[in-house]
Formats: sequence, structure tokens, C-alpha cells
Amino acid sequence: MAETLNPFKIAQDEIKWACDKLNLGNSVYEVLKEPERVIVVNIPVKMDDGTTKSFVGYRSQHSTILGPAKGGVRFHPNVNLDEVKALSVWMTFKCGVAGIPYGGGKGGVCVDTQELSKGELERLARGYIRAIAPIISPEKDIPAPDVATNPQVMAWFMDEYSKFAGYNTPGIVTGKPVSIGGSLGRNQATGYGVSVMVQKVCEQLGMDINKTKLAIQGFGNVGSFAALTSAQKGATVVAIAEWDKKIGTYAVYNEDGLDIEAMFKYKEEKGNIIDFPGGKMISLDEFWKLDNVDIMIPAAMENAITTKNAADIKTKIIVEAANGPTTPEAEQILIKNGVTVFPDILCNSGGVTASYFEWVQNLQNFYWTVEEVNSRLEGIMTKAFDEVYKMHEDYKVTLREAAGMVSIKKIADVMKLRGWV
Ligand code: NAD
Repeated sequence: MAETLNPFKIAQDEIKWACDKLNLGNSVYEVLKEPERVIVVNIPVKMDDGTTKSFVGYRSQHSTILGPAKGGVRFHPNVNLDEVKALSVWMTFKCGVAGIPYGGGKGGVCVDTQELSKGELERLARGYIRAIAPIISPEKDIPAPDVATNPQVMAWFMDEYSKFAGYNTPGIVTGKPVSIGGSLGRNQATGYGVSVMVQKVCEQLGMDINKTKLAIQGFGNVGSFAALTSAQKGATVVAIAEWDKKIGTYAVYNEDGLDIEAMFKYKEEKGNIIDFPGGKMISLDEFWKLDNVDIMIPAAMENAITTKNAADIKTKIIVEAANGPTTPEAEQILIKNGVTVFPDILCNSGGVTASYFEWVQNLQNFYWTVEEVNSRLEGIMTKAFDEVYKMHEDYKVTLREAAGMVSIKKIADVMKLRGWV
């Protein structure tokens, strides 16, 4: 069976399916099947050797009916128009599910940043923002970090846009360093939100979190903080899978639980978790096949669970922390095997929710404590979980389908009130 890997086709199919299931007629789908606006830009960059090189960049604003478009900017050699459009659709879904007043947007530049000097990267970042400046603003579209764009890149984005606007505009991007208007708690927010979801899953399914065993793929930003904060809530993390340039994929396993704080320190020193002393090394194949795990959390990359490994998974619950970690065909196998998948657009929405908090703080010039950020985040994600779970029960659909339906329903209600359909 050929797997559906064109992300925009997957996204369009998801919109269509949700519109049909909610009996919305074709008009809502007609509005949502393509982004409201897509811009393709050419970004000439003066290279260190004196030559000029051009890079192609994109910004897709899928929907702005619930508020300004919101979404990250990816710098990666595989960036293409369909991927950017698909990611902007999923941002519409994600903001709708979280119930934050944003639509969906996404941007990207086709570039391998490892081949750029710091100066070239800065000139590319500034060039990208100048190119899309006419269609963005804190009220229209707010970029953020994604693959290979970090707080420093956001600082350049903010500075360049501020020159364009003629005044300091911190609310133009989120994910900034704290000293120039970033939010406390943003760095760990996605992983923290995943732990809130783990707690909700346990409550909903009558499991005791103190007896719940987790296996997490990825010990990067999301996976590491998901592990740490889930452990702080009482869960036991028995396995972490990782990838290394030299040895490829591997996992560290301890059936009694890994010491996550010690693993943070180990990674800080060594740059990886290979041979972490508190566990034994196993292969990624063995990781997926673990049979004494309650919840698997893919927190590394897209397409981690495919038709190749889905049937191996013994765990009955998956909490998706990465974006798009399960292919549609793999999900069919999981469903057949009685595995419940809690979808990415719900489970990793802690990141965009904290970005929303950053923007609110920028607009008000009034800054919150990390405790305020975490407790508001918990409130928003708990409500989102309950809404998705209710939709799942009411319509007898999967949780992914329910999440899509929750956001499409909110958008369709507003479209009707505003007279769009
Ligand atoms: P990251 O680069 O910090 O971490 C990814 C980790 O996964 C790395 O440590 C990498 O070595 C590891 N990895 C890569 N391939 C692997 C493999 N095959 N097996 C095991 N480990 C592997 O990235 P991140 O920010 O943690 O993002 C992870 C995922 O979460 C991505 O899909 C991202 O789009 C999504 N996400 C991130 C945020 C955020 O706030 N950072 C928000 C929402 C969604």
C-alpha cells in the first residue's frame, strides 16, 4: 500500500472529512481548502565571498477568520510550497482546538543553514522578513520559530520588522529571547503541555499516573521537557529514543525508570545520551516493540510511525508530541490493534499557547511570572482536551478526527455569523 506522504493532500482530506461529518455542506470546505493567501518570495543574500545568492521563501496564511495567522518559519532544504501550505492548515486546526484567537499560518525558506555563516544567516533572516513585511503585522500574521530558526533568528526578525514599521514592534514574532520580550516558560511550554495531556489521559482513562510508564522518542526540546515534567507529575519514563550523526538511532531503557534530571546533565556534558549510565542501550526497533509501556510519546520528527513499525507497537496509548508523527495508513493499523492516538494538534499545542501568551504580554507591555504562564497554559489545554474528548464520544470518531471537528466547527460558526457562508 502506498503511504500518503503529500502533507497538503492529507490536510485537505482532513478538512473535507470534518466538514462532511459536521454536515456543513460544501461552502465551508470551499473557503478552507486553500490558504487565504500565499506569498512566494526571492531573497537575494550577499554572501561572505562577495557573491550574491538567491533563496526561495514562502508564507502561507491559511485562515484568519478567528484572528491573525500564527505559525513558525522553517529554514530547511526540503521546504516547499505544499509543505508550507499543509503546515498552515494544521496551525488553523491547532489554534482552533486550543481556543486561542488565532488563525493558521506558516513560512519557510529552502536553505541548508549549516552551509551559512552567522552573518549570512542574519542577512537571510532579515531579507525574508523584509520580503514578507507587507503582509504581516501583530494584527495580521505573527511568525515564530520552527526547524532551524531559533530565538536569535526571532530577534533579527523583530529588529528588521521594527525598522520597516518605524517603531519597536515586539508583538510581530514570538519565541524571542526573554530580554527583548520573550515569555518566561516558552522554552519548556510544548513539553510541559505534553505532560498536562499525559495527566489528562490518565484521569480520563482511570489510570494512576504514579503507576504509568512512558517511552519517549526524542530528547530534544519537546521530548526532554515532556519527560522531565511528566516525571515530576509522577509518571515513570522507562525509555528514551534518540538519533546521533555517528551511530544513527538508538534508545536508552530502564524498566524501573530513567533519572531524567541526570539525563539532562549527561546530555549537557556529552551532547547526547549514548551509554547513559542509568539505563541500557537498545535499538529503535526494540524501543517500538517494548511491551511494558503504557504510553508512547513520539517527540522527534514527522512520519516516525509508518506501516513499517505500526504493527510492532504493543502500547495501547500514543500521545503525539511531534508534528505529524503517524502516517494515516499507520494509524489505520494502530486503530485495528486497539491503540488510541491522542493527536499532535491537541497534545503539542502548549507551544503555540505560550506563544499566544508572549504576544498578549507584548501588546500589553506587562509581563507574567512562569507560574502564571504554566497555570494559564494548563487551563487552556485542559479545556481543549475536554472538548476534543466530548466530540470523540458524541460522534464516535477518533480523537484526531474529533480535534479537526472541534476547530472546523468553531470556524464554521464564526463564518456563518460573519456572513461568509
Ligand atoms: P529538536 O530538534 O529539539 O528535538 C528533536 C530530537 O529528536 C533531537 O534530539 C533528535 O536527535 C531526535 N531525533 C531525530 N530523529 C530521531 C529518530 N529517528 N529517532 C529518535 N530520535 C530522533 O526538536 P523539537 O523542538 O523538540 O521538536 C520535536 C517535534 O515537535 C517536531 O516534530 C516539531 O515540529 C514538534 N513541535 C515542536 C514545538 C516546539 O515548541 N519546539 C512545538 C510544537 C511541535
